[in-house]
Amino acid sequence: MKLFTDQLAVMQDITTRIDGLCDLLNDLMLFARPRPLQVTTFHLRALIDDGVAFLKRDESLRTIEVTIDGRITAHLVFFDRHGWYCEHGRTCPAVGHAKKYNGQIARVS
Ligand SMILES: [Zn+2]
Repeated sequence: MKLFTDQLAVMQDITTRIDGLCDLLNDLMLFARPRPLQVTTFHLRALIDDGVAFLKRDESLRTIEVTIDGRITAHLVFFDRHGWYCEHGRTCPAVGHAKKYNGQIARVS
């Protein structure tokens, strides 16, 4: 009967671990769920500078030459029930860029 008791303990341990994995997966799915787009403003230049700093830190990427001109045009790109649009109009290049990158940060000259 000891063998059965040992087997039962192993089965209970497996069940407990599977339940733990299910909880972990549920937490991950909850974390990764689609959320409504939140429009906000931020300092784009600081983000660009961070990207350039990243390139310079990586030895294999240091040969990439980056030029940032000082004529930065701010684009407020929106997505709502009317679709994508920028404060400069629907044909602004920033709209296409925002669509391409699903609303993530973009810079358009
Ligand atoms: Zn624009």
